[in-house]
Amino acid sequence: MKRVIFAGLFHETHTFVHGTTQLSDFSVVRGQDLFRCAGDSSPMGGAIEAAAGLGWEIVPAIDMRAQPSGVVSRDAFESFWRCFEEVATSVEESLAGVFLVLHGAMVAEGIDDVEGEFLSRIRGLRGFGSLPVFGVFDLHANFTRRMAIHSNCLVAYRENPHSDARESAVRAVHLMERAMRNGCVLRTSWVHPPIVWPPTGTGTAADPMAGLLRLAREIEERHAEIWCVNVVAGFSFADVPNAGVSFTTCYDENYGGGAAEAALAALSRVAWDTRHAGNAVERAAAVVVSEALKAAVDGLTVIAEPSDNIGGGAPGDGTGLLRVFLDLGVENAAVAINDPGAVAELVRLAEACGEPTLRRGVRCVLQIGGRCSAPDAGPVEMEVELLSVSDGVFELVDKKSHLASLAGDRVEMGPCAVVRCKGVTILLTSRATPPMDLGQWLSQGIDPSKFSFIGVKAAVAHRGAYAPIAQRMLWVDTPGPCSSRLSRFAFQKLRRPIFPLDPMEVPAWCERHPFV
Ligand SMILES: [Zn+2]
Repeated sequence: MKRVIFAGLFHETHTFVHGTTQLSDFSVVRGQDLFRCAGDSSPMGGAIEAAAGLGWEIVPAIDMRAQPSGVVSRDAFESFWRCFEEVATSVEESLAGVFLVLHGAMVAEGIDDVEGEFLSRIRGLRGFGSLPVFGVFDLHANFTRRMAIHSNCLVAYRENPHSDARESAVRAVHLMERAMRNGCVLRTSWVHPPIVWPPTGTGTAADPMAGLLRLAREIEERHAEIWCVNVVAGFSFADVPNAGVSFTTCYDENYGGGAAEAALAALSRVAWDTRHAGNAVERAAAVVVSEALKAAVDGLTVIAEPSDNIGGGAPGDGTGLLRVFLDLGVENAAVAINDPGAVAELVRLAEACGEPTLRRGVRCVLQIGGRCSAPDAGPVEMEVELLSVSDGVFELVDKKSHLASLAGDRVEMGPCAVVRCKGVTILLTSRATPPMDLGQWLSQGIDPSKFSFIGVKAAVAHRGAYAPIAQRMLWVDTPGPCSSRLSRFAFQKLRRPIFPLDPMEVPAWCERHPFV
């Protein structure tokens, strides 16, 4: 029986937002409790189910995950490592390998490349030097040479929104099974062309990602010795040397070296040729919303506000789009804002009034949002009507939604309140909840498809949930920490020069290659 140790470490770290992500911000699952997610929509759930199906004996170590946020405390990472090390070194009989569920863009205090550090520590454990290390990771990883050297085959998601997180984990398990069964040793080669794209440019439905993924599949088809080609879009809000676009190929060490290197060059060339399409920036919210009001459509207009992208680490309390809705007198509009303080006030009010009074309508003056990000104009004071309060728990409507890769099936928004001000319905949450599943609104007794405008704090990941109910989707620029205009960020560690931050000549490696 193949004994494989399983662990998960998942955090997308936004190094420009304030505050440190502490151990208490993570959901931590240890040992046998890992099996509880077997079969659910998360990548760990998929990997465990697939491995069990292949008859592996799973040694569960630890799974630690948190929503995207600021730099992770050193303590949180060391605590993770201690647990992993303890389990890894206590396994008495020999292990056949290591399987990991990673994000790939985690930064901790003093460690710019957490995954590289983790992988190199694994290699340093007695008996782990040549064990196969396989796993799955998010395509928003900032991949590094260290990650490539110390792993055998890490498999990236291929969809953004991440509808295939679970499926990718299953694919990685099957590749590992094939390698172990045939006694193949895989190696990973890696390249980081000088390109960084904002998240808005990394959707896989359009170029540059669509073209790159097509080429990756072609390469896999033509070269049997290359087991896996990964297109890694990168995560731009991390001031680390290797933030940005990269590619990896995982190949059989006996055959694939040359072809793997050539594939990386070909992918880099296509990325360079299509770099401008990936640098997707938005126009000011007031301009876009005014135009949308003039050119009204029958049905829902979804307005994405990438600068306050919760899935990218923003606090989700930005007031930019809310202000525009109120200023322009937009009717039948909605937006969700994370503001635990405002919710607590409303819950107290609801308790003081009692149910019958609530039903008749209660009004109060509230300060909403604008507390957590420096570029924001600050809280908006408004008189609101309180419509409802709830515990904020919901089951995913779409079990393949992007949110499943972060949270599994069940999402907790914390205590919630719904209020209305003029024509705008506002869902106030106590935990920043990425707008990736309609259950967020439906659980509050609200059908989001009935609005004329709905603001979502996302870049790309809302598409899966909202495209089916939207007549049109627009993107706007507001002040916030996940702005698509990368020149607004003071990068210090990022490798330079890099597109689009620096004026650049066509790089020397950018020659036509027979792959293309
Ligand atoms: Zn991602």
